[in-house]
Order: sequence, then C-alpha cells, then structure tokens
Amino acid sequence: MLQGTNLTKDFSVRLGLFRGNATLRAVDHVSLAIQPGETVALVGESGSGKSTLGRMLLGLIPQTSGALNYCGRDFASLQGDQARKFRADVQAVFQDTSASLNPRRRVGESVQAPLLFNRRLSAQQARIESAQLLERVGLDPKTFAARFPHQLSGGQRQRVGLARALASQPRFIIADEPVSALDVSVRAQILKLMQDLQAQEKLAYLFITHDLGVARLIANRVMVMYLGTVVEEGNAADVFAHPSHPYTVALTLAAPIPDPTRARPPRHLMGDIPSPLAPPSGCRFHPRCPFAQAICKTDAPPMREFEPGHLSACHFADQVRAPK
Ligand code: SF4
Repeated sequence: MLQGTNLTKDFSVRLGLFRGNATLRAVDHVSLAIQPGETVALVGESGSGKSTLGRMLLGLIPQTSGALNYCGRDFASLQGDQARKFRADVQAVFQDTSASLNPRRRVGESVQAPLLFNRRLSAQQARIESAQLLERVGLDPKTFAARFPHQLSGGQRQRVGLARALASQPRFIIADEPVSALDVSVRAQILKLMQDLQAQEKLAYLFITHDLGVARLIANRVMVMYLGTVVEEGNAADVFAHPSHPYTVALTLAAPIPDPTRARPPRHLMGDIPSPLAPPSGCRFHPRCPFAQAICKTDAPPMREFEPGHLSACHFADQVRAPK
C-alpha cells in the first residue's frame, strides 16, 4: 500500500557564527513497504530517525532523495482528488495530544472538522457521526463532546485523537509514540482499542516507539533503526525470539521485565547515541557494541537475510543471533 525506496532525509544545521552550516542526515537510504492490515513497529532510541521517517511517509516533510509510492503511484505526482484521498487515507496519531488538538475547540468540533472538510458531510451528518466516533473510542458524547482538551486526561485526549483520525475513514495510521506519555493501565487500554479498531477497519499501522514491550504486544513486523539506518527487520516473533543485531539484543535486554522477582540483566547498551552530524565510520554502532572487532570500524555491514524476511546488518550476526 505504502512503499518507500532508499528514502533519505538531510537537514542543514547551522553550527554557529563562524562555523557555517553542516548537513545532518536523519534518515539514510531506508526502504520499507506497509501492507494493508498489518502493524509494523519502528523501534529505536530517541535520535534514531524514526519520527523523521514517519513524517516523510505522512508527506509532512519531503524526502531529500528516494521514492515514495502510495498504492502504486509516485507520491510526488499525486494531485487534486488523488492527493486529497492520500491525506484522508493516511492519518497520524501523535504522542503530544495537547499539541495535536486545538485547545480552543471543543472535542466534538475537533472530531467534526475532518468530517466536514475531508468527507464533505453536512453539519448535521458531521454532528451525528462525530458522536458515533466518540462512542467507538469509548467516550460518552453527551459528556465529552462539549469539553475542551484541557478538561480531559491524557488517555481521553488520545481517544479523541483516534476518533479524529478515524473520521477520515483511513486505511493507514502512523502512530508516533501514541502511548508513551500515558500511565501503564491507560496505555494497555489504548493499545487494546487500537487493536480492536484495526480488526474492525482492516487498518494498517506504522507504530513508532522506543518501547520494545509495546512493539512486542502490537506488531506483526519490526524494523529496528539506529542513527538513521535500519539495522534489523523481520517478523516480530522472529526478531524478539532470535535478535540478530547487537543493538536489538541490547534493546531487548533493556526493556522492562514485568516481574519484580526477576533480576534486571546487566546494562548492555553503552553510552549515548552518537551525533548524526558525525556518525561513526564503518558500522555506526561500533563505539557501543560489545561484539565490535577491527573490521567494524572500517566496513559498513550490508543487510543479510537469515531466514525469509528476517534481515540484519552485522558482520557477526551468526554469533550474535540467539539460537533457535
Ligand atoms: Fe557490532 Fe560489528 Fe555487528 Fe556493528 S558489525 S553491530 S560493531 S559486531
């Protein structure tokens, strides 16, 4: 449905008064394809480029190079009705719900806006359908339609965000850290709601998250990003059971264990993610990698396929890979 090939995004960054500008490559030759009805989790630490990739897929920022296709058509060539259809088909849900809802608009008005402008419903139809959408996301329209965003909890605002996204009858939702700011119990409710909506509407999700627990719960497929590149991807069950890149192993070990009686494993991820302004040579992960050897500092590892659909970019993936 949505396909990106060799997507790259550069930003020009001003370094200071006498130091001029530098190019920051936030996304570096990433290819991905999202199929109807599937959930792809894009995981990685903050600064890995996953949100920039999500914004490119939404058409919010243009790619520096690479191709983006929607339903077989070049994204850049979409115009008029086709561009409108893309904007309705592909919706976003963001982490910061207070910023994504207009603070001066009542909840009912916020949900009605896409019904009026994207679907061109009459005011009366929009009122009726917005009430139905609020009900679908678990909010009583009689109570919530007249409220302003600041009168809602974080979980309630995220439900409104979902109702707004659904108003355009989308086929694909890009959810950027949609539950990161929520309490654990509310997080579980929102994830369950998203799974239910997916089953009812045959939605596809791109789920951007730094939380592997969330990715494990919701994803069919996982892509792991590090410093703008994809270092591992595959079927979610395979990736979590047999991670084949040291970065994925480290993220897996760093994920919280929902069992207070089990000891935390030792810290596997050393130091912070390097600046994308000066990415390390060879394998970008080598300064933090416990498996690094001399070749890692000079030669960038290519993506290799270990089993159908499971790929990893590591010279020593065979040793890293957890046994079956
Ligand atoms: Fe670590 Fe080397 Fe593999 Fe990179 S290529 S992840 S540095 S072992």
